[in-house]
Amino acid sequence: MADEIHEALALDTLAIRAGHERTHEQEHGEPIFPTSSFVYDSAAEAARKFSGEEPGNIYSRFTNPTVRTFEQRLAALEGGERCVATSSGMAAILSTALAFLQAGDEIVASRSLFGSTVSLFDKYLGKLGIVTHYVELGDLDAWEAAITPSTRLLFAETPSNPLSEVVDIAALAEIAHRHGAWLAIDNCFLTPALQRPLDLGADLVIHSATKYLDGQGRAIGGAVVGSSEMLQELVGVVRTCGPCMSPFNAWIFLKGLETLSLRMKAHDENAQALARWLEAQPEIARVHYSGLEGHPQHALAKRQQRGFGAVLGVEVKGGRDGAWTLIDNSRLMSITGNLGDVKTTVTHPATTTHARLSDAQKAAAGISEGLIRIAVGLEALDDLKRDIRRGLDRLADVPGIR
Ligand SMILES: *Cc1c(COP(=O)(O)O)cnc(C)c1O
Repeated sequence: MADEIHEALALDTLAIRAGHERTHEQEHGEPIFPTSSFVYDSAAEAARKFSGEEPGNIYSRFTNPTVRTFEQRLAALEGGERCVATSSGMAAILSTALAFLQAGDEIVASRSLFGSTVSLFDKYLGKLGIVTHYVELGDLDAWEAAITPSTRLLFAETPSNPLSEVVDIAALAEIAHRHGAWLAIDNCFLTPALQRPLDLGADLVIHSATKYLDGQGRAIGGAVVGSSEMLQELVGVVRTCGPCMSPFNAWIFLKGLETLSLRMKAHDENAQALARWLEAQPEIARVHYSGLEGHPQHALAKRQQRGFGAVLGVEVKGGRDGAWTLIDNSRLMSITGNLGDVKTTVTHPATTTHARLSDAQKAAAGISEGLIRIAVGLEALDDLKRDIRRGLDRLADVPGIR
């Protein structure tokens, strides 16, 4: 579909229609092109395609029609000019760094980032001479204070995982631009169905398609969305370095996008209701969720988001014993580090995703021993409540409860 048509269509329509150019077979569903390379009618045509004089497919590390359909659809949903798909969310972040940073450059990032993102920044970008400074996500003064003349990139996830902290994206974009830096937002937790960072001034949106874009836990993938000019750099990185998305996975994500809006609304509703119910349970000390009125940044979240997502940070009384008792007595929730699935998942961050942190770092990040993360899926709410209640009832045996 042409760009002019995109502008007139609502997100729900773009999620279903954008990107697919029907082939001569007149197929209704988006086709998968499982081919590594593409052929030419003549040596002259091959020469024109290789030189870039004539557009067209050459090799699936460069372009693939199924991957392109996914890229165009996600770009339309995020309101960006262009999207580059990658083999994973981490590949999207690495490719962004390789495209825009060099030795001596600095990143300022929020402290509460996905664990592998922190390792990528510290261990691997560190090796390349790129230094990252971490700040409190919601503290705009801290962001500004951490910026130096070498800062090229500001990087944040909002809302954060698992404590649902939020940053004002428009204000952060203004700070970045005033200092000649770019702002990249990892929009994994809300997706364009609930938040569009580019509309708020961010330069790049990063995705782990593995999460809600697929939504059913089937495949690993990632993407970066932004202006055509910026993404041109990234295209070069993916073509040359090779972290491209497979056509099979692109097709899975395309199918995921078709129901994205519906799923995100349903995730959001289930999470809202479960958060309120959990808050009222005597064995629960606190629920961290930007959708609750008591959340310190609820007003900001309400203003910049179209929903609050489905990741809850839940503090169970009784420390690790309390948290593990709840988890171990669940028969419905899956004990797994993944999220963004129709299946509800539960983890104990202090001993899994955040286990590498020292006790002091955990305390600073708010990762207590009693904290569990529930990524609320689409099962019936009453079944989820009953499942959690079973664990809570066992807490009577844990010292320090009630
Ligand atoms: C999972 C995740 C990633 C990494 O994505 P992969 O697809 O697992 O490589 C990055 N950011 C966030 C916020 C994530 O949840």
